[in-house]
Amino acid sequence: MSRLPHAASWYSATATPVPDRPALEGPVECDVCVIGAGYTGLSAALHLAERGYSVVLLEAQRVGWGASGRNGGQIVTGFNPSIGTLARLVGREDAHRLWEMSEEAKALIAERVARHAIDCDLRWGYLFAATKQRHERDLAAIEREWREDLGYAKARRVGADEVRGLVASERYLGGLLDEGSGQLHPLNYALGLARAAEAVGVRIFEGSPVTEIERGPRPAAITPGGRVTARYLAIAANARADSVLPELGARIMPVSTYILTTEPLGEARARALIPSGLAVADVNFVLNYYRLTSDHRMLFGGGVSYSGRDMPGLDSALRRTMLRYFPQLADARTEFFWGGHVAITMNRTPQFGRVDPNILFAQGYSGHGVALAGLGGKLIAEAVAGTAERFDVFARIPHARFPGGHLRTPLLVAAMAWYRLRDLL
Ligand SMILES: Cc1cc2nc3c(=O)[nH]c(=O)nc-3n(C[C@H](O)[C@H](O)[C@H](O)COP(=O)(O)OP(=O)(O)OC[C@H]3O[C@@H](n4cnc5c(N)ncnc54)[C@H](O)[C@@H]3O)c2cc1C
Repeated sequence: MSRLPHAASWYSATATPVPDRPALEGPVECDVCVIGAGYTGLSAALHLAERGYSVVLLEAQRVGWGASGRNGGQIVTGFNPSIGTLARLVGREDAHRLWEMSEEAKALIAERVARHAIDCDLRWGYLFAATKQRHERDLAAIEREWREDLGYAKARRVGADEVRGLVASERYLGGLLDEGSGQLHPLNYALGLARAAEAVGVRIFEGSPVTEIERGPRPAAITPGGRVTARYLAIAANARADSVLPELGARIMPVSTYILTTEPLGEARARALIPSGLAVADVNFVLNYYRLTSDHRMLFGGGVSYSGRDMPGLDSALRRTMLRYFPQLADARTEFFWGGHVAITMNRTPQFGRVDPNILFAQGYSGHGVALAGLGGKLIAEAVAGTAERFDVFARIPHARFPGGHLRTPLLVAAMAWYRLRDLL
């Protein structure tokens, strides 16, 4: 086992055993140096190596240390904004191409899991659930856009009675059942991608934070123990992009969000909570989402801290939220609680681009990265290989920086307080 621990969570407690990976020492040369071993970096590295490039992947901590090893494991159709909103940003044609690529992002997961035999509990089927009339209207609009405008036939509206057969919570007025969204064990998916990447020659170094990059015709990534000189750099550090290049960090906001799991409930009791086995999320601005684990626990996510600090009592606050959905879990102990940083952009669409022609980045999936980050890595690989059309559809999305410089967090806290209030109405 590696010297460094995984971030403590139910995921790390159930992680596939992995080999020890060294830290970078001394100078190394390669075609592409990828920085960050989450889904973006792993996917970029895998696709590049499959195309014959020599690839070095530098990870500050361990594979899957960031959001990719801690998230809710929910594979969600589309983007955070609707395609209609995207069309206002980039035009209808590009918005439709973005939609098609978001569909490809989900297919990519299925394809990789099958091809590389990744054991990560992948399952399809998802419920977007409404707790208010306003959510019902939102879901109706989403379903209409998907079906009429985009030809997506995998989702249908369900009424309160049908929802109660799918999920044993009394809170819901209705929902949108989507067979094209799903769930997986996020850390084991990341570890499986790393194994697949190494099998095609990617050299992964853990415990190797990039502290500085050198720009120029042969850019370089510098770590405390070594230096990688390459034809291209791919920055995939997401919420910690600022540690590689401050100007990238200024374009995203890291938001803390949290997950708990109960103790094992036994198969019958777990099944009684979600008889359908679906992954579920509500449609509040500040989401609550949940699903059952393979060892029959409730895994419940939600709660955010925009201040960038972990406040005391967040675990009991999240537990209280869970009990509002499932009072029948009052006697089930919380066994794991952890958090991580979601990188959001101002307009909640992913942000891809180039710092220089030979330094690319992809980040800021705004809570949709389980599927979209893998696509981001694939598009980086395409762009390096000389076919940048699809990468550039994303790169054309206009992005504003967060206003306020170092004051941006208090501003965001104020803005989010408003949205939270709206969720309560
Ligand atoms: C608690 C939580 C729940 C979430 N739930 C969902 C969900 O259910 N569905 C969904 O679609 N999305 C979800 N997300 C978001 C999703 O996990 C991310 O969008 C996605 O994992 C981003 O992948 P990434 O590879 O871009 O970034 P990351 O996985 O964050 O990877 C970045 C990596 O870069 C490394 N790194 C950073 N700086 C350096 C440096 N200087 N040098 C070297 N390495 C560096 C980090 O250690 C990290 O491993 C959630 C996120 C969190 C935190």
